[in-house]
Amino acid sequence: MDALLGQFGEAIGVFFAQPTVRLVLDMAIGYVVVVWLATALWAFVDMRRRTMNPIWPYATAAVVVLASPALFPLALLLHLIVRPRGTVAERRMSALRDAALDAEVDRSICPGCRRPVDEEWLICPRCRTALGHLCERCGHAVGSDWDACAWCGALFVPPTGVVRADL
Ligand SMILES: [Zn+2]
Ligand SMILES: [Zn+2]
Repeated sequence: MDALLGQFGEAIGVFFAQPTVRLVLDMAIGYVVVVWLATALWAFVDMRRRTMNPIWPYATAAVVVLASPALFPLALLLHLIVRPRGTVAERRMSALRDAALDAEVDRSICPGCRRPVDEEWLICPRCRTALGHLCERCGHAVGSDWDACAWCGALFVPPTGVVRADL
């Protein structure tokens, strides 16, 4: 039995001693190492795009490197699970969009009853809150908090909509 095992071991030794086999093995190992290091670099760049925290990208890359060429796919999987969903740029864009939407909604909601109103309305038909006035000069509807008419440029004195006498 021992002799058989010895023979088997010898055969394996001879097989791996062949220059072609060694070359292929070296190339395979080199390939894995390159992929491993590239993954660490990618995880670093990916995390830097997703967080403002200066530590996280280094920590992520360190985890991939420490996972060794044998276990780095697990570290990569972990990174894909725990990383923030959107990039910093994406989150900024969506925050801007939300702010713009809020401003839009704010303008067309009655300050009295919080129901949607038309921007051209002068009074809320539900709670009778004054939403605007007619400009005395051009007749356009103007907001009740406007200091001047956006359509004809007339300056108002309170109550809004009354054009200043010196104009
Ligand atoms: Zn109302
Ligand atoms: Zn006007």
